[in-house]
Amino acid sequence: MKLQEYRSKEILARHGVPLMAGEVATTPEQARAIAERMGGTVVIKAQVLVGGRGKAGGVKLAATPEEAERRAREIIGLDIKGVTVRTLLVAPAADIAHEYYLGLILDRAAKTVTIIASAEGGVEIEEVARTNPDAILRLPLDPLLGLQRFQVRQVSFFLGIAPDLRSSFAETLKGLYDAFLGSDADLAEINPLVVTEDGRLLALDAKIVLDDSGLFRHPDLEAMRDHNEEEPAETAAREAGISFIKLDGSIGCMVNGAGLAMTTMDLVKLAGGEPANFLDIGGGAKADRVAAAFRIILDDENVRAILVNIFGGITRGDEVAHGIVEARANLQRDVPMVVRIVGTNAEEAAEILRAANLITADSLDDAAAKAVAAAQAPGSRA
Ligand code: GDP
Ligand code: MN
Repeated sequence: MKLQEYRSKEILARHGVPLMAGEVATTPEQARAIAERMGGTVVIKAQVLVGGRGKAGGVKLAATPEEAERRAREIIGLDIKGVTVRTLLVAPAADIAHEYYLGLILDRAAKTVTIIASAEGGVEIEEVARTNPDAILRLPLDPLLGLQRFQVRQVSFFLGIAPDLRSSFAETLKGLYDAFLGSDADLAEINPLVVTEDGRLLALDAKIVLDDSGLFRHPDLEAMRDHNEEEPAETAAREAGISFIKLDGSIGCMVNGAGLAMTTMDLVKLAGGEPANFLDIGGGAKADRVAAAFRIILDDENVRAILVNIFGGITRGDEVAHGIVEARANLQRDVPMVVRIVGTNAEEAAEILRAANLITADSLDDAAAKAVAAAQAPGSRA
């Protein structure tokens, strides 16, 4: 789950990261009132969960409260990469002398939290990685020892932080690290971290991405979810207890178990097709969950066939088969379905499916091939 900048900054501030506290506005009038209260030049920033807001016109400076109101009016309603701006952050503006990048990621290859730092901040770090990879430091941290003081100095020297700002930098990096660990994050980044003309170190932008599987431990963070920006399919999936990730292909996949879902996607690709999604309906899936899964899959207009792959362990095959037949009868839109159910009560399941005239398959290879063929058949677009 991605947190908005103002939420991310709230968390970082709590951990002692130096930054300009701002206030949130949803109308131009509110932005003006905040600017009036703050005095001086303010920065007005679109709160959307996509990067590159600056380039898209979503970050603007305003020297007076009147200008703040005007700028806010320009930014509210702006479309940034498909997201409409509804919320603004208004904060005292900083005079920037230099921009740095400082981030922490959970590096799955290194199997540990890794610091990413660069003196070429402000632009997207992926851009720096492409054009000037030597300008980036990657420093993996020991999972048991955590962030060590010598590592803080190492990053500080790499970035060329001036001696009088090193203690402030140490606070920033430690705060970022504590925030990352404390919130079960996958990513926490400050871009840019700036040195101001009057010699202060400040986090001007912040982004925290939380591990969804750790969210149950953080009801306070769960409450920060931005429902405006969640894909409707993702909301529906989360509420039904289904793990769902939308992809770009044409074959909808309904599978129980994350590993089996990954395998199913691989085999769809091997058979020459492209999966439309990752979907794990979870253990013991009952009819209502199956129905929700179908609705979520078919909501995607690109889907031309559905491959159902169920391994019955705790989940009973016949129950899923009933669920499929029942759910299918109530669907708005129909596409060819290939169903493979093995394991507990597989035979009963096969009978139910045959009686309902669904395409069945014994092996996963066979199922994938049939689904790909069904998706490519002319007239399969519903
Ligand atoms: P992003 O484009 O979505 O990453 O949004 P950022 O918050 O990083 O802002 C983009 C750029 O706007 C920054 O790299 C800065 O150059 C500039 N910017 C942001 N806040 C301020 C500020 O307070 N003062 C000044 N002068 N520039 C700012
Ligand atoms: Mn930024």
